[in-house]
Amino acid sequence: MEVRQNKPFALGIDLGGTKIAVGLCRGEQIEKKIVTPTPANSGPEAVINAMIKAAREAMTGIESSEVAGVGVGAAGQIDPKTGEVIYAPNLYWNHVPLAEKLKAGLSLPVKVVNDVRAATIAEYRYGSGRGLSDFVNIFVGTGIGSGFVLNGKLLDGATNSAGEIGHICLETDGPPCGCGKKGCFEVFSSGRGMERYVMTQLVHGVKSSINDIVEGDPRKVTGKVIGMAAREGDELALATLRRAGMYLGLAIANVHTMLNPQRIALGGGVMALREFIMPSLIEAMEKHILPVALRDNIVVMAACEEDAAVIGSAALFCATHPGR
Ligand SMILES: [Zn+2]
Repeated sequence: MEVRQNKPFALGIDLGGTKIAVGLCRGEQIEKKIVTPTPANSGPEAVINAMIKAAREAMTGIESSEVAGVGVGAAGQIDPKTGEVIYAPNLYWNHVPLAEKLKAGLSLPVKVVNDVRAATIAEYRYGSGRGLSDFVNIFVGTGIGSGFVLNGKLLDGATNSAGEIGHICLETDGPPCGCGKKGCFEVFSSGRGMERYVMTQLVHGVKSSINDIVEGDPRKVTGKVIGMAAREGDELALATLRRAGMYLGLAIANVHTMLNPQRIALGGGVMALREFIMPSLIEAMEKHILPVALRDNIVVMAACEEDAAVIGSAALFCATHPGR
C-alpha cells in the first residue's frame, strides 16, 4: 500500500476490434483519454505498437514512476495469469503474449483480462455492484457476455471462459448461432440476433414500417432502425423487442436460481431500448425463477457506460480489485 500512494495513476486500455481506448485513470476518474483505430488487419505487432503509442500519449506530462501499471480489457479468451490472448476472433489473434510485449514496450507492469470482466470490475467497484459480494454483470450489445463476482472474487473458470452466457442454450432447436450451435441466448436477445430475426421476417413478407426505413433492403436493418420503428408503434419491432426481453428474463431467472446473486446489472447498447424490453423481461423472470430466489430490485441498469472496460482495466492495479 505504501508504494501505491506514490503511484496515483493507472492506465486502462480497452482493446476492441475497431478501436483502442486508453485512459489515464485516477481511481474511477479518467484524467486523459486517447482513442485510436485498431489496425486489426495488419497483425498483432501493428496493434500492439498502436497500443504502446496511445499509452505513451496518455502519459504525456507525468512520470512513469507515478503509474502503478497498465491494465488491458480485450475481447476474447484471455489467460489472466500470463496476460496471453489465447483466442480473439475479432482481432484474428491466436496465442499472442500481449502482457509480455506491452511490458517490454512500456517498462510498466501489465495485466490483461477479458473486456466484459474488466467492465464487471468497474461496475463492481464503482457502479451498481458497489459494496456487494455476489454480483452479475450482463452486457447486451452486438453479442452477449457476462462477468460474475462470487464471494467477492471475479470468476475466471477452468479454461478462463466463465461468463459466456450468450451461448447458453435456451431453445434446443432454435436458430443457428455464430458459435456453431443452435438456440443460444444471443441469437434471441443480442443486437445482431434481433437484426437477423427482423431481416428473416421481412424476407418472409411480414409487413412493417422497417421496410420503409431501410428502403426495402433487409440488409440495412440495425438495432437503431428497430428502435426507431418501435417508437412509431411498429408491431414487428415491438414483437422483436418483447421476444428479446422474454429470453433475457429466462436467462436471468436461470442465473438467479442457480447463483442467487444480490444483484444483476444489465448494460450494453441494446439496453437503450429497455422501455420495450423490460416488461417481458420481468414477466419471464418472475415466471421462471425459483420462488425462494425472487426478491425486489434483482435487475438494475449498469452504471458505468462506454468507459467501463477502461476504468475496470485500470482498477486491476487497485489493491482491492475482486480478482485478487
Ligand atoms: Zn452460440
